[in-house]
Amino acid sequence: MRIGFQHTYASLSPRFFARVPPTKVPEARVVVFNRELAAHLGLDPQMDDSTAAALFSGNEIAEDSTPIAMAYAGHQFGSFVPQLGDGRAILLGEVEDRDGVLRDIQLKGSGRTPFSRGGDGRAALGPMLREYLISEAMHTLGIPTTRSLAVVTTGEQVYRQDILPGAVLTRVAASHIRVGTFQFFAARGDQDALKELLAYVIARHYPEAATAQVPALAVLDAVTQRQAELIADWMRVGFIHGVMNTDNMALSGETIDYGPCAFMDQYDSNTVFSSIDLGGRYSYTNQPGIAQWNLARFAETLLPLIDADTSKAVELATAIIEDFVERFEGRFLEHMRRKIGLVSAEDDDADLISRLLIAMEKSKADFTLTFSGISRAAAIPGEAASLREMFQDATEIDTWLSDWRMRLSRDPQSAAERAETLRLANPEFIPRNHRVEAALQAATAGDMQPFHELLAILQRPYERHSEHEEYRLPAPPSETPYKTFCGT
Ligand code: AMP
Ligand code: MG
Repeated sequence: MRIGFQHTYASLSPRFFARVPPTKVPEARVVVFNRELAAHLGLDPQMDDSTAAALFSGNEIAEDSTPIAMAYAGHQFGSFVPQLGDGRAILLGEVEDRDGVLRDIQLKGSGRTPFSRGGDGRAALGPMLREYLISEAMHTLGIPTTRSLAVVTTGEQVYRQDILPGAVLTRVAASHIRVGTFQFFAARGDQDALKELLAYVIARHYPEAATAQVPALAVLDAVTQRQAELIADWMRVGFIHGVMNTDNMALSGETIDYGPCAFMDQYDSNTVFSSIDLGGRYSYTNQPGIAQWNLARFAETLLPLIDADTSKAVELATAIIEDFVERFEGRFLEHMRRKIGLVSAEDDDADLISRLLIAMEKSKADFTLTFSGISRAAAIPGEAASLREMFQDATEIDTWLSDWRMRLSRDPQSAAERAETLRLANPEFIPRNHRVEAALQAATAGDMQPFHELLAILQRPYERHSEHEEYRLPAPPSETPYKTFCGT
């Protein structure tokens, strides 16, 4: 079989990867196949299940595939690990999608590679379906992300805390180049590799940087911009990535590596879901600061390519890294204005928004439902009852509502325009943690129906369809806070 693969990354010098085929599995079976995405990638969307199972388990390697595992390093929870790499992932090749964009097609959970260290190279069904569901939800929410093409069970068992069904996820990405990919070569003092990698990143992601005065600086600037936008996007929907190590930050600006991520229900800016993030390093509110820290690590790898004079290079790079804060805050404020129905800008808007967030935090108001309530309150004056219910301090929220209505009266939109602004800014459906868990539990026990139902609802996050009202709601408050696990 031929797919139409290209191999731009596998054409780089050999130090960037190891050539290794996926390990065959005893019994490949498709549990979910994204036919719409397949069509977008120019693959055959009518492909029968046995062909898809063979291809997306790694049992059949297309004639034109050149399977490789990519080398990278990374800072994990602040400590540098000079060698990570694809320990359980294999890049099959790249295809050009309908928009003319080159996309990596990668198997995750496809067996050991020279980068596996102590790992088994395998993945369990639950976490692979979790990545499928949440990455597709992020996509329909309009947030840059890797996507998921298929999940195939392997017929093998994998040993984690429990014995679980094994699975392979097929991930689609603008590329899998990470901050950690640059760090891998910088740590080895390999200047030639850094130059080669930078040229590749420019050609693939930032062609406009090629003609800049200092291309490396232009790339740093562009990556910083995309990360500022990405983190603002995460935070506008209450998304917490959970493991923002430098090996999990893609230079393309896509969200990558859905391990312990989750969406926040009650607004608490210090929310952490990951069971191993004891210090809260990757909490909701720390995400911009961590992104900036990661970008500084990226900048360090580029210094020799920015200027031969190190102190000059540091000065130029530092100015960009420092500017991250303003870029993020500007973007976040823009989103928050829209979330409360504003398209014009006034100096006091930041204060109005921050008063709302403080009140939400005090009352542990649900993040998504609060903004959904604001959409409704804006549409129907006097329809603020359900919103007010979410707040403990009635005077505080009433004062806020009256200030907000005053502010709306100075915003130029018609009622219909405002309704649309609000609809597009405030999702009704996010992947609620308890719904995700229930779907994965059923799937692990062999019942895919709840997964497909949830996936279908998350395809239209900005439309309120009354038949699925219960999917809008968070889990009833419980004694044990929701936790996610890295042991994927
Ligand atoms: P992650 O925490 O998923 O970002 O992975 C960090 C590193 O551990 C990467 O180099 C992965 O390839 C590697 N890794 C994670 N799980 C496994 C596994 N089951 N077998 C081998 N390597 C793994
Ligand atoms: Mg990773």
